[in-house]
Amino acid sequence: MGSSYEIRNFVAGEWGAPAGADTAPVVNPATGEVVGHTPQSDGAEVDRTVAAAAAAFPAWRGTPPGERIQYLFKLKALLERETQEIGRAITIENGKILSESLGELVRAIENVEVACGIPTLMQGDVLEDVSRGIDELMIRQPVGVCAIICPFNFPAMIPFWFFPYALACGNVVIVKPADRTPITMQLVTRLIEEVGLPPGVFNVVNGGADTVNALLDHPGVHAVSFVGSTAVAEHVYARASAAGKRVQAQGGAKNPIVVLPDAEIDTATQITVDSCYGNAGQRCLAASLAITVGDAGGAFTEALAAVANDRVIGNGLDESVEMGPVISQASKQRIEHLIGVGEQEGARLVVDGRGATVAGLEGGSFVRPTLIADVPPGSTVATTEIFGPVFGLMQVDTVEEAIALVNSGRYGNMACLFTTDGRAARQFRYAADVGNIGINIGVAAPMAYFPFSGWRSSFFGVLHGQGKHAVEFFTQTKVVVERWPADWSRKF
Ligand code: NAD
Repeated sequence: MGSSYEIRNFVAGEWGAPAGADTAPVVNPATGEVVGHTPQSDGAEVDRTVAAAAAAFPAWRGTPPGERIQYLFKLKALLERETQEIGRAITIENGKILSESLGELVRAIENVEVACGIPTLMQGDVLEDVSRGIDELMIRQPVGVCAIICPFNFPAMIPFWFFPYALACGNVVIVKPADRTPITMQLVTRLIEEVGLPPGVFNVVNGGADTVNALLDHPGVHAVSFVGSTAVAEHVYARASAAGKRVQAQGGAKNPIVVLPDAEIDTATQITVDSCYGNAGQRCLAASLAITVGDAGGAFTEALAAVANDRVIGNGLDESVEMGPVISQASKQRIEHLIGVGEQEGARLVVDGRGATVAGLEGGSFVRPTLIADVPPGSTVATTEIFGPVFGLMQVDTVEEAIALVNSGRYGNMACLFTTDGRAARQFRYAADVGNIGINIGVAAPMAYFPFSGWRSSFFGVLHGQGKHAVEFFTQTKVVVERWPADWSRKF
């Protein structure tokens, strides 16, 4: 028998669920088993959560930064203690293989480490004598109640792009996990409870779109951090901005990689395969399109096809498995439909991953690695975020044409170049209209101390998650200009 988890909200330091709330099933995508039920919190539950957070704010804000980060040091130790259990829960609710779940947790913990630098990172500026006898100070103060709304694909890592920084800066937090993957934050929140943060400083409210909208409209919420699809990111950005909040909203992606004829094909293939089929293609930094230049295409396509055909799919808890399922049956159907559209629009199916089944896992949502060549520019496969293990191939003659193709898409999350030519690499880095660039890298994921820099339709806002951007987002600047009586100053 599989696992089953109880899913509750965590408000004012207490676990509970709104009485009579509807629930949404949480399904293990590898087995089809229901492993939990997500309560759908309504406006009244959001009101209660915001009130609890607001009540905790004054004392938390007044706690010295050096004391606030002690809770984060403890959280890091507890996360490391519970890595295996949380990693297992990620695989059960999301489907990714266990090594990917554990890798995600490493990325989460790195953000806790960076946020522990707050006593330095949060410092302001001072300049004496901006005019005779007048000094000017810039102080960073927390913004208040911060809502963090998360997607299903990284249930552990993505909340950590935001909440450790928010807390360390003296804010209070409400996390809204994806309703398809709420279990991971239940386990993380138990550790936060063990750390002993004052009640109301960290809260979790579960639910779907209605819960999100209640947070976006609530006058007591001061900042909104969102990660998810572009359509919802646009909605969140517009609605929360209209309600007067600061917003950072990270959206979807369609990430191209460009392969030049001088690239080392073996290395490029291995790195690309990990990028496009890792996490079953459900990464916002998954490579989903290769643009090969000149004669780079032939050998590259053959090598990719061989790996795509050999990939072992199954339950991510099984160590021999290399790729897990996609998140749901609905997602499988959508991905398979888009593969069919690609064929109708003139692309060539080199490896067709539709109709996949795994013996003993008949209820699972599996799509095998898929490779589609000769993808026409502007076609559905070239422009749509498929968010599954589907990799498209296009061919151009020059690096300039490749860059123009990269820049013609609506998204700007990531673009990568494979080459041994430094001049071409510099040209690509300079001209690609994309916020995260990889040179001979397949997943250009910024470390916790750099911003996660999506551009264009992959991001709405100014300040991104992680690092110094997060510190700026979770603080507001206050400028003080001061003059003291001259006769008093002269005494010193
Ligand atoms: P999603 O947009 O469906 O959901 C994200 C969050 O929004 C969830 O908490 C969900 O409950 C809520 N939500 C869904 N519909 C809503 C609505 N109509 N109104 C208000 N709230 C709503 O995204 P997902 O399917 O969970 O995640 C996958 C998407 O996230 C992909 O597009 C992927 O590229 C993107 N993503 C982006 C990044 C990035 O850094 N740019 C990182 C990870 C994932």
